[in-house]
Amino acid sequence: MKTMKDELAQVMDKRRLNQAYTTMMQAAVADEAVQAFLQQNADALAPDAVNRGAAKIYEYVNARDGKVTTPMQQAGYTPKLVVSNRLIDITYEPTPAKRAQEAQASQKALVTSLNMPKAIAAARLADYDPTNRGDALVQALTFTTELAKAPRAFHKGLYLTGPFGVGKTYLMGAMANDLAKQGLASTLVHWPTFAVEMKAAIGDQTVLPKLDAIKKAPVLMIDDIGAESLSPWIRDDVLGILLQYRMQEELPTLFTSNKTMAELTDFLAGVEVGNNEGLKAQRIMERIRFLATEVAVGGRDRRNG
Ligand code: ADP
Ligand code: MG
Repeated sequence: MKTMKDELAQVMDKRRLNQAYTTMMQAAVADEAVQAFLQQNADALAPDAVNRGAAKIYEYVNARDGKVTTPMQQAGYTPKLVVSNRLIDITYEPTPAKRAQEAQASQKALVTSLNMPKAIAAARLADYDPTNRGDALVQALTFTTELAKAPRAFHKGLYLTGPFGVGKTYLMGAMANDLAKQGLASTLVHWPTFAVEMKAAIGDQTVLPKLDAIKKAPVLMIDDIGAESLSPWIRDDVLGILLQYRMQEELPTLFTSNKTMAELTDFLAGVEVGNNEGLKAQRIMERIRFLATEVAVGGRDRRNG
C-alpha cells in the first residue's frame, strides 16, 4: 500500500514534469520563426491550432536546431511549418545543398558518354583558353545558345578539326555540359570504339539496337571520326544510315576529327589504302556538310605540354 508520502511525491513529480513540459512548449512557441509563422498564418489557422499543434512546434524547433536528427534530415531535408486542415503540421524540404546536389545529378544524367574520357565531365566553356582557338569557342557558344533558345528547330552543328591534343574533345564535352545546364540532353560517342563494338555486335544481333540508341539522340556528338580503321560496312551501313537519319530528322549533330573535311573525304574513299571509292565517300561527306560547319581548332598540344 502506498504511503501518503509516496502519493504526495508522485503528485509533486507529475507537477514538475508538467511544469518542465510547459516551459519547453512555451520556449518553442516563443521561437522567432514559429512566431513569424503563426502571425503570417493567423487567418488560416484554427483558434486552438497552437494547443493542438504544440508537439509539432516542439518537433520543428528541435529538428531545425539539430537537437534531434530525423531520417529526413540525414537525407538532406530541413523541417518547415505548414498549415494543414487549419492545423499546424511539418513538411521536410530539400536543403540548398541537397537542391544543388539534385540539380547536379539531373544535369549529369543529361549527358550520355559512350567510351569518352572521364575528364570531359568537368569540361566547362568558361574554362576554355581561347588562345589560337577563339573562333572555335565563339562558334561553340553560339551553337549552345541558339539551340537552347529554340531546341526544336534545326541547328547546324560543328565539325571541329585540328591536330591531336588541341582540345577538340574537351570543347565538345564543354558544349554538352553547357547544354545540360540548360536542360538539354546530348550523347557523346567515341567513334573508333563504337565502330569496333558495332563489328563485334554483328555476331550477337545487337547492331540495330546499338545504332538506334545513338541515332535518335537529341544532340549527337561524334568524337574522333576518321580515326577508326576504315571499313566499307561501317562507312555505308552504320555511319551512312546514322547520318541519313540525323539529316532527315534535322537533329543537331557534331563531330571532332584530326582530319579536315577534305582529308576525311580521302580517308573514306580509301585513298590512303589505294582504293578509289570517291562516290561513296562523297555521299557521306554531303551528309556531314549538311549537318555541320567545319571549324579549325588551333593552339598547342595540351596532352604533351
Ligand atoms: P583533342 O581531342 O583535340 O585531341 P583533347 O580535348 O583530348 O584534345 O585535349 C587534350 C588534353 O588537354 C586533355 O587532357 C584535355 O582534358 C586537356 N584540355 C583541353 N582543353 C582544355 C582546357 N581548356 N582546360 C583544361 N584542360 C584542357
Ligand atoms: Mg579528341
